[in-house]
Amino acid sequence: MILSSQDSHDGALHEKGGIDPPDSLSQSAADRLKSNRKKVPSVSQLVEGILAGDKTSLSQAITRVESKAKKHQKEAKDIIEACLPYANQSVRIGITGVPGVGKSTFIEAYGKLLTQSGYKVAVLAVDPSSSLSGGSILGDKTRMEELVKDPKAFIRPSASGDSLGGVARKTRETVILCEAAGYDYIIIETVGVGQSETAVHSMTDFFLLLKLAGAGDELQGIKRGIMEMADAIVINKADGENEKAAKQAKLEFNRALHLYPTKDSTWRPKTLTCSALEQQGIDTVQALISDYFSLTKENGYFQEKRNEQNKFWLLQTIESQLKRDFYDHPDIKKELERQLQLLSENKTTPFEAAEMLLRKGR
Ligand code: GDP
Repeated sequence: MILSSQDSHDGALHEKGGIDPPDSLSQSAADRLKSNRKKVPSVSQLVEGILAGDKTSLSQAITRVESKAKKHQKEAKDIIEACLPYANQSVRIGITGVPGVGKSTFIEAYGKLLTQSGYKVAVLAVDPSSSLSGGSILGDKTRMEELVKDPKAFIRPSASGDSLGGVARKTRETVILCEAAGYDYIIIETVGVGQSETAVHSMTDFFLLLKLAGAGDELQGIKRGIMEMADAIVINKADGENEKAAKQAKLEFNRALHLYPTKDSTWRPKTLTCSALEQQGIDTVQALISDYFSLTKENGYFQEKRNEQNKFWLLQTIESQLKRDFYDHPDIKKELERQLQLLSENKTTPFEAAEMLLRKGR
């Protein structure tokens, strides 16, 4: 989990104020509790705060988005709806790479470059591992220590959830809130676990793959799908003794990228090197990202991709809702048990059983 000082100011404490104070509490403590309870902001107060760029309101609204409580979910829906007209104004950048490649160091350096240029930057993460393993691959240490303190930056750890779909959906909704709060750059970080890269790719405009120069065959162990998704590959830690190997890796990756067919965007992905630690080459990465946005905004691909992504998320949402409704239905649960039993006794086939269940579900 990315720890952020913002979270300590979050509304979570106030939100717990729904219990009556026990008799033993002193009057002043009871008054304090009561006034804390009053501090729970309303939907319209949160929306107002978000639109004014208030980080506490933004944090509190995201807590609603992430909450499982029905009441919060309803409030989250209302907040998102109110924010929607102010969304879509940012550029969204996905960043991926294995643990230790330097994601947080890079985002800190890149984020600072952006805020120094006057932009507001929000950093979100998609890390379903935090709910699966109880610990987060993105690290429980305090990350991006300087960026966290930057008034123009907002850092939020990955939402927890029991599925990647759930985490991804919450992140997507969080993007809307961040955009309404005036963030110009939304950076979404992920590690290459399972499908999380695909999920981040499907909610960002630009996808950056961070790599390390290894010994020799750079392309080994890199999934073809990820190469295809990448709009840029950045070889990090190009400093000290590593600089030469990084330059070599850059050549190899560039050569490999040329073998892929031209993208619909007409953009040709490129490989760069940088040292996030020494803050070298970050400006070149930013120049490349700017070139990408100039090209794709001019040729219409930027909007086209966002439309495609909206369609994808619409269908995805329907699909997951239908699936949930189906499996949660008591009749289906019972019938599924029965069919599984029949299957184990060789009295039906998986296809027949599926058809039977689907018929029941109609
Ligand atoms: P993450 O797990 O991908 O977020 O990686 P971190 O940003 O936490 O970095 C992992 C380690 O690599 C830390 O010890 C960093 O100081 C170090 N590191 C990150 N970027 C660089 C770099 O450009 N050069 C060098 N030499 N070390 C780096």
